[in-house]
Amino acid sequence: MNQKTQKPAQIRHALTVKREDDFAAWYQQVVSEGEMAEESGVRGCMVIKPWGYGIWERIQKIMDAAIKEAGVDNCYFPLFIPLSYFAKEADHVEGFAKEMAVVTHHRLIADGKGGLMPDPEARLEEPLIVRPTSETVIGAAMARWVQSWRDLPLMVNQWANVVRWEMRTRMFLRTSEFLWQEGHTAHADRDDAMKETLRALEMYRSFAENVLAMPVVAGEKPENERFPGAVATYSIEAMMQDGKALQAGTSHYLGTGFAEAAGIRYQSKEGAQELAHTTSWGVSTRMIGGVIMTHGDDDGLRVPPAIAPHQIIILPMLREDDGDEALLAYCEEIRRELLKLSALGEPIRVLLDKRPGKATQKRWAWVKKGAPIILEIGGRDAAGGMVSALRRDRIWREDAKTNFVGQSREEFVAGVAALLEDIQASLHREATEKRDANITRGLTTLDQVAEFFAEDKRYPGWVELNWSRPTGDALEKVVEQLKALKLTIRNTALDAAPAEGLCPFTGEAAVERIYVARAY
Ligand code: AMP
Repeated sequence: MNQKTQKPAQIRHALTVKREDDFAAWYQQVVSEGEMAEESGVRGCMVIKPWGYGIWERIQKIMDAAIKEAGVDNCYFPLFIPLSYFAKEADHVEGFAKEMAVVTHHRLIADGKGGLMPDPEARLEEPLIVRPTSETVIGAAMARWVQSWRDLPLMVNQWANVVRWEMRTRMFLRTSEFLWQEGHTAHADRDDAMKETLRALEMYRSFAENVLAMPVVAGEKPENERFPGAVATYSIEAMMQDGKALQAGTSHYLGTGFAEAAGIRYQSKEGAQELAHTTSWGVSTRMIGGVIMTHGDDDGLRVPPAIAPHQIIILPMLREDDGDEALLAYCEEIRRELLKLSALGEPIRVLLDKRPGKATQKRWAWVKKGAPIILEIGGRDAAGGMVSALRRDRIWREDAKTNFVGQSREEFVAGVAALLEDIQASLHREATEKRDANITRGLTTLDQVAEFFAEDKRYPGWVELNWSRPTGDALEKVVEQLKALKLTIRNTALDAAPAEGLCPFTGEAAVERIYVARAY
């Protein structure tokens, strides 16, 4: 055996910032060193690089199949939405007004100082909003498409970019322009619409857990966190490695408010004119930020195999001599052999990285990007029918027996599908254990909550509280009290245990459990 295992004392991590020293700086470094995205020069807008976009394409592909499986059709609506469409739903326009980008002119003219300015003659009669979300414009189409109960349910989805002029932006997590899918459905009654709202939520929960290997809590948001205009908002919430919560997807039951604003009416079986009940649901490129902060380590990203653009990187240790040809031929043979295999229900994705350059540098570049398996092959390996596989998720761990250890090519190929599946499962297990270990229960007063989060614990995680679900002004007061502690209410888990005891905020009997946390 070709023992090259490195002792922990020799570890020099691939990143210069460690998670425990400065989580925010670490995140930025993973994004840049992992070649995920870069600044664009426009505040809050990012350039998504091939590795980052490749991950998004994987997310799209798998999510799109789940959406179609549910009977939802894809379509496309315009980027520009007339301001008057928004004005029809008061809460909706109020909620989004602060972050809308508005187009007012359609032509520029010389400003007399060598520059250009909007032509006053070319002012639009009605300002156009660059879509922050499409309920209003899709609602207008639904009003045209729905006449009778036979037209319902009507279920459409679009993959698009949206713009929300965010003040505090961070790559992937909160950008001013982001990519997403938005599902919009119209139903005959509340029950059917609610069923769809919860179906979409479950689709997101299962996607996060099974595809992103990211454990989440699916539940209902409190009233103050509802989508503008919604009757109920549900979310999936994930815990990042710094203990903060990330809202990774949302599903809204919109009642009849949007239908009323857009005029989505149908004739019922009994012949009466009824308002439709609508829903909307979305996930965005934020999910990629969640993957980074769930699975990244001090060497960079660890991409779950299900969403890795390339699951296996074959790295020939090229020496720029006569031996290279035979080495490349050997690598190519292995590549072809791997392409015939499947793992996680799909053909395995393999890249033979033939670019010139030092193999160790290339190895570390792939480590930082988080490719699940890096297969290093030197001239001697090729001659002896060997390979040396690096399992990225356990790069330094003692239980990673195969790392840096030669094995026969046959042995590797025979075990590779199981290895990819094990990496996927093990990332999920690791993240779930971390999450569960950082949820605290049993605090019963606001003072205890304040003390808990004030302690000099860097990663306090989440707290589960029993509360009386106050509404209106009483809820506002709770929100303010929590805000003073930099805390927010995340959600009430759908599968939460029954509430017990008294509400720490109101002193009344508790009716449900909520998660309270710092959040992104
Ligand atoms: P919403 O339409 O507000 O429910 O948003 C749907 C989903 O998009 C949210 O659950 C987030 O995961 C995501 N999202 C919202 N705002 C942003 C943003 N500024 N950047 C990236 N993702 C976002």
